Amino acid sequence: MGDVLIVGSGPTGLTLACDLARRGVPVRVVDRRAGPHRESRGKSLNRDGMGAMAELGLSERISGVGRELVLRKYFDGAHVNDTRLKDVLFLGQWQIEEVLREHLASLGGRVEYDARVTGIDQDPEGVTAHLADGRSIRAGYLAGCDGGRSAVRGLLGIPFEGTTKEAETMVLGDVRAPDLSRDVWHQWFTSDGGAVMLCPIPGTPVFQLQASPEQQADGTPLPPSPEGFQRLFDRHARMAGIRLTGATWLSAWRVNVRMAARMREGRAFLAGDAAHVHSVAGGLGMNTGIQDAMALGRVLGAALGGEAGARPLDAYEAERLPEAARVLADTSARHRRVVAAVREPGRGTEVGLL
Ligand SMILES: Cc1cc2nc3c(=O)[nH]c(=O)nc-3n(C[C@H](O)[C@H](O)[C@H](O)COP(=O)(O)OP(=O)(O)OC[C@H]3O[C@@H](n4cnc5c(N)ncnc54)[C@H](O)[C@@H]3O)c2cc1C
Repeated sequence: MGDVLIVGSGPTGLTLACDLARRGVPVRVVDRRAGPHRESRGKSLNRDGMGAMAELGLSERISGVGRELVLRKYFDGAHVNDTRLKDVLFLGQWQIEEVLREHLASLGGRVEYDARVTGIDQDPEGVTAHLADGRSIRAGYLAGCDGGRSAVRGLLGIPFEGTTKEAETMVLGDVRAPDLSRDVWHQWFTSDGGAVMLCPIPGTPVFQLQASPEQQADGTPLPPSPEGFQRLFDRHARMAGIRLTGATWLSAWRVNVRMAARMREGRAFLAGDAAHVHSVAGGLGMNTGIQDAMALGRVLGAALGGEAGARPLDAYEAERLPEAARVLADTSARHRRVVAAVREPGRGTEVGLL
């Protein structure tokens, strides 16, 4: 029986796996995906995220992939503002996951793919996770690091309280723009409330595209499409001759501000997006999940390693639940600041990061 079963191999699950493995705790990591992805998703590590990477001995690897960036704001097509961000390293989420996966492999661990958790039973000695293909896995403890739509959270019966802002949506994708400079994070805003942002993912030809969606005649947003990305770019960036090609990871995203009512149920824990989701303003989602993982690693590692004076397992929720509430309030305030700032020519999304 593995000591800890980690459900989900995003940044949260992989950070926890690396932290437990370095403490000598046997871990298994399962993921419903067929294999690793290459989606840019969460694309920045802040000082706390970098601190966690340093604790795992990964500063050099991560710094070798990521880069610092200047935010360049354009208003109605004119370049109005550049802001150099300090203490923020940009890289694609898949690149962070790759570094963590390789590190886990060096510690003797690996991700088991095609393994979707669909059921959980607990008893005083351990947890049994049931998989969609009929297998089951027994462990001492289970960590639900399975993202915002967490199956583990649902199976544990933990409410996900908060709001979904149907009107606040964004279309997202990874695209190429061969003739666009890759030295800055381009952010175009227009006086009619439109927005397109293209952030270069380092070491690749890819930009992450974020944009306000096109509206249909009845006011509902059009789903993302490669042609729609080009139309949005032409309309808001007003830069003739730039073609967006090779679109992948086309998605629509709504602002959800929600957190789990509890982060522990017996021998099972929640961490990362499974426990809290919020606005992307401030780039705190993945970074907060990484902090959850390090906190859970400390508590489980100490308990399972029989460390003298180990803190009780409840210490995890006592530390991280108030932090989740703080991050929800903080990112909502950052979101309001960003929405107001981008409507003025002189200020931009940097107000959410400062
Ligand atoms: C456009 C955008 C920009 C962002 N920018 C930033 C940023 O700059 N900085 C930042 O910190 N955050 C950012 N975020 C947020 C960040 O992407 C998330 O907070 C982060 O992905 C959460 O990581 P996680 O490991 O908790 O969950 P996820 O990354 O969602 O990973 C969950 C994993 O669990 C697996 N899984 C799900 N269900 C099951 C199941 N039943 N059984 C087994 N496996 C399962 C999934 O396949 C997945 O691999 C951004 C998000 C978006 C959309």
